[in-house]
Amino acid sequence: MSRPCPCASKLTFDRCCEPYLDGKKIPDTAEKLMRSRFSAYALGRADYLAATTAAAEREKLDVEELARYCRAVRCISMKVLGTKAGGPGDETGEVVFHAKLLINGKRMLHWERSRFVREEGRWAYLDGETN
Ligand SMILES: [Zn+2]
Repeated sequence: MSRPCPCASKLTFDRCCEPYLDGKKIPDTAEKLMRSRFSAYALGRADYLAATTAAAEREKLDVEELARYCRAVRCISMKVLGTKAGGPGDETGEVVFHAKLLINGKRMLHWERSRFVREEGRWAYLDGETN
């Protein structure tokens, strides 16, 4: 399958986020995790979103509500604006991005500074500051 990756990396899905979503690879940087989570939103993979959320936050997640949100959102474009730490040797990381979304048919510009932590060797999404 060679469709473009939903994370807008300009790579094909099978060479970008698909192996992460399928559990065949583990993202080694916070940015890769953020991109794969973005693809999960685009594809309605609430299971992946829950699995890659930091443990303490995961308990508060409503996976069904998350799945409903995924269905309501369409992504037009996404751009990573910057990253802080989040590399293979780091314990925490930040990714700043903006995305053009359609939420229930309404255009929205979403800006977010996402924070990531390493848990049991894997990157996990902690929280985000949004516009
Ligand atoms: Zn991707």
